Amino acid sequence: MPDYNRAATLYWWVMVVAGSALTLVCTAQLLQMSWQTWLQLSAGVLLAIGAGLFPIRLPGRKNSFAAGEIFLFLVLLVLGPAAAAVAAGAEALTGSWRTSKRWTSRIASPAIAVLAMASTGSILHGLLGALERADLGGAAATLAAALVFSALYFAANSVLMSTVLRLKRNEPIFQWAALLSDLRWVGLAYAGSAAVAALLFVTYQQQGGGVLLVMVPLLAMLLVSLHLYFRQQEVGLALGQAQTAFDVRQAQATHQHLLMLQASEQRFYSAFTHATIGMALLDFQGRMLQANPALCRLLGTGGADAVGQAFSDHVAEEDRAGLQAQLGLAGGHEFQGFACELRCQHADGAVVWLALHVGFFTEPGADTPCLILQAQDVSARRAAEAGLLQLAFHDNLTGLPNRRRFIECLDSAITRCRADAEHRFAVMFLDFDRFKLVNDSLGHGVGDLLLQGVARRLQENLRPGDILARLGGDEFVLLAERIETEREVVVLAERLMQSLKAPFDVGGVSLTASASIGITFSSFGYASADDVLRDADTAMYKAKGEGKARWALFDASLHTAVADRLRLEGDLRQAIEMHELSVVYQPVFELASGRLTGFEALLRWAHPTQGLLGPAAFLPMAEETGLIRPLSDYVLHCACQQLRLWQMSQPGWAGLTMSINVSAVDLSQPDFVARVGRAVVEAGLAPQHHSLELTENVLMAQVEGATQKLQALRTLGLRLAVDDFGTGQSSLSHLSRLAVDSLKIDRSFIHQLQWGSDDSAVVRAIVQLAGSLRKTVVAEGIETAAQAAQLRDMGCTYGQGFHLSTPLSAMDASALLQLRGRLD
Ligand code: C2E
Ligand code: CA
Ligand code: CA
Repeated sequence: MPDYNRAATLYWWVMVVAGSALTLVCTAQLLQMSWQTWLQLSAGVLLAIGAGLFPIRLPGRKNSFAAGEIFLFLVLLVLGPAAAAVAAGAEALTGSWRTSKRWTSRIASPAIAVLAMASTGSILHGLLGALERADLGGAAATLAAALVFSALYFAANSVLMSTVLRLKRNEPIFQWAALLSDLRWVGLAYAGSAAVAALLFVTYQQQGGGVLLVMVPLLAMLLVSLHLYFRQQEVGLALGQAQTAFDVRQAQATHQHLLMLQASEQRFYSAFTHATIGMALLDFQGRMLQANPALCRLLGTGGADAVGQAFSDHVAEEDRAGLQAQLGLAGGHEFQGFACELRCQHADGAVVWLALHVGFFTEPGADTPCLILQAQDVSARRAAEAGLLQLAFHDNLTGLPNRRRFIECLDSAITRCRADAEHRFAVMFLDFDRFKLVNDSLGHGVGDLLLQGVARRLQENLRPGDILARLGGDEFVLLAERIETEREVVVLAERLMQSLKAPFDVGGVSLTASASIGITFSSFGYASADDVLRDADTAMYKAKGEGKARWALFDASLHTAVADRLRLEGDLRQAIEMHELSVVYQPVFELASGRLTGFEALLRWAHPTQGLLGPAAFLPMAEETGLIRPLSDYVLHCACQQLRLWQMSQPGWAGLTMSINVSAVDLSQPDFVARVGRAVVEAGLAPQHHSLELTENVLMAQVEGATQKLQALRTLGLRLAVDDFGTGQSSLSHLSRLAVDSLKIDRSFIHQLQWGSDDSAVVRAIVQLAGSLRKTVVAEGIETAAQAAQLRDMGCTYGQGFHLSTPLSAMDASALLQLRGRLD
C-alpha cells in the first residue's frame, strides 16, 4: 500500500481484521444451520453475484445500481444477519475482484461489506424482533423496518468505504453533502431493493418458498432487461451527445472556413491584381471575365476593354485555331487544363510570344467553374531560340541555309524520291572561279561582300521551292525538286551563270564572278546526301577542268577522273623530294642583232608514269592546294643559281638575264619580296638581271599590297614584266600607270601575225606605245622566220619562241650559249 498514510493503513488493518473476525464468527454460526439453509444461502449469494454482473445505470448518471442488494436483503430477511454478512462478503469479494486491480481494495471491500451488513443487519433483526414482541409485526412494519435498514446499510457501507480515501487525502471523514447527493440515487436504489426484498419476504412468509422460486428468476430477468435497456439508452445518449458536440464543432468549423474563404478570396484578388504575370478568368467560350493589369499590359488593352472580349481575338492568326481547339475541350469531363506557347498581337502591332497555362478555377461563391489563364511573356527566349536555330542552320555571312540544313533537306528529298519514283531532284554544286584570288588579293572583307552579292544574285534567279545553301568558302549548292526533265536544270544552271556576268560593285571595286557548276540527278539512285554532294562536286571539277565558267553533268566515268586528280595531288607533294621537278630555260634573243640576251625559266615535272608534264597540268592544282609555294621557291633557287653559273663562266655572258614567272598566289604571300630578295642575294647576282613576269590579270586584280610589293621589288633593283600582254583586263591607257619595265606580247597575237591583219596593227601599236613609254617589248611564241622578221621590222626589241629555240635543259642551254651566242 504505497500511497497509504499511517491513518489509512491503520484503518485498513482495523477493517480487514474486524471484517475477517466477524466473517469467522458468522461462518461459525452458520455451521450450525441445516443443509437447506446452506442451499438457500448459496442460491442467494450466486444471485447477488450474478446481479452484480448486470448493474443498472441510469443514462447520463455516474452512479450505478447493482440489484445484487435485493438478494442480499432477502438473505438477511430469510436467513438472518450472519448469513447476510457472509453473502455480502462473498458478493463484495467477487465484485471488487472484477472492478479493482488493487489488492488493498480487493481485501478491504469484502471486509467492510461483512462489517456493514453484520452490524446493520443485526439492527434490523433487533428491530423486527422488537416489533414482533410489541405485536406490531406485519407486512407494513417489515416494509418500514427494511427501508430504515436500507438507509443505515447504505450509510454504513458508504462511510466505511470512503473513509480509506478520506484518510489518505487527509479529508474529513463525514462529508454529509457528498453523502446526501449520493443518497439521491444509490440510496433510493437501496431503498427500492430493500422494499422489493421485504415484499418478497412478506409474500414468502404468507405463501411459502414457491413464490420465491417463481419471483426470483422473474426478477433476475427483469434486472437483466433493465440493464440492457439502459445500456442501450446510454449508448444512444452518448451518440446523441457526440453528435451534438460534433454539430457544434462543425458549425464552428464552417464559420472558420467561411472566414478563411473570405481571406483567401481577398488574397486571391490581391495576387491576381498585383501579379507580374498576366492572368485572366475566362468562361468556357474563351471570353475574358476579368483580366489583370499585367495581362492588359502584355496585350496593350485597357482592363475594362478586355472584359467580354474573346482571348483568342488577341492571338495571332497562325495560332488562333490551335488555341480554340484546346479551349473547345474545356467543357468535357476529361479536360485537365493545358499549356502552350503562342504568338499574340500587341495593340501596337508587335508580336508577343506568350507561354499560356489554362486550368479550371472556381470563384468563391460561384457554383460553376470557369477557366483561369496565366500568361508569361517569353518573347526574349523565343527570339534567342530563333537566333540559335538561325545560327545552327544558316550561314552567317549570306543568311542562306548552311551545310547541316542542306543535308537535312537533301536527305528528305532522297527519302521522297525512294518512296515515289516520279519525284525527281537535281543537285548543283557551284564553285566560283578565281574566288581565292579575290580573297587573297583584295582581302577577306571584299571576298565576303562578293559572296553576299553572289548569293543574292543567285537567289533572285531560282525557281520557287529551290533551296540554295552555302557549304563554306565559295562553294554553293542548290537542290531543285519536282523537275520534269534534265533540260530544265541545265536551263537553270545557264540562267544562274548568266546572272553572274554583270559586274559586282564591291566596296567601290567592280568585280566579275563566274562559277563552274556540276550537276547530278536523283536518277543515279542515291542512298545518302554525301554521295549526291560528292558526285555534284566531281562534275563541278569537270566543268572547271573544261575551262571554267561552264556547267558539267555528272557521269559515272568522272569518278576515275577525280581519283586521278587526287592521285596527282599526292604525287606532287612528293615530287620535290623525289627530284622529279626540273627547270628548263627558253632563250630570249635581241631581234635586231640575233644576240642571245637571256632566258625564261619554265617548270617541268618528270612524272614517273605520265612522263614529262608542263605547268598547265599541275600548276592550277598547286595553286589551289598551296603547294605552289615550295614549287616557286624551287624555281627561284634553280634559276638564280643557274644564271650565276653562266654569268661567272664567261665574261661575255655576264649581262645575261633571267625571267621568272610569278603567280597571283605568290604575290599575295606577305614574305614574297623577302624570299625573292634572299634568293638573288644568296646567288650573288645583280638584281637588274632578273625579271619577274606577272600576267596582266594579276597586276590588274589589285592584289592587296601588290603596289607596295612591286615597288619594293623594283627598289631592290629587280625588273618587272607584264606577261601575256593583250589578253587581260589592262588597257593601253593603264599602261603608263603600271610600274613595269617591259611588256611581253601574248603569243596569240604573234601566232596570227600577217601583214595588214588586225593583229599586226595591235602589235604595232603596243610596240610604239611601249617605245614612247620607254618600256621594252618582248614578243613570245615566234614560230616562224616571217614572224621574227615582221616583228624586227616593227621595232620589237626582243623575241622568244620555238622558231628561235624551244625551252632547253640547263645543259643544253649552256651548249647553245657556247655554240650560238647569236641569232642566225
Ligand atoms: P608563259 O609565261 O607564257 O610561258 C611561255 C609558254 O609558252 C611556255 O609554256 C613555253 O613552252 C611556251 N612557248 C614558248 N615558245 C612557244 C612557241 O613558239 N609556240 C608555242 N605554242 N608555245 C611556246 P610552258 O612551259 O608550258 O608554260 C606555260 C605557262 O606556265 C607559262 O606561260 C607560265 O605562265 C607558267 N609557268 C611556267 N613555269 C612557271 C613557274 O615556274 N612559275 C609559275 N608561276 N608559272 C610558270
Ligand atoms: Ca612567262
Ligand atoms: Ca606568256
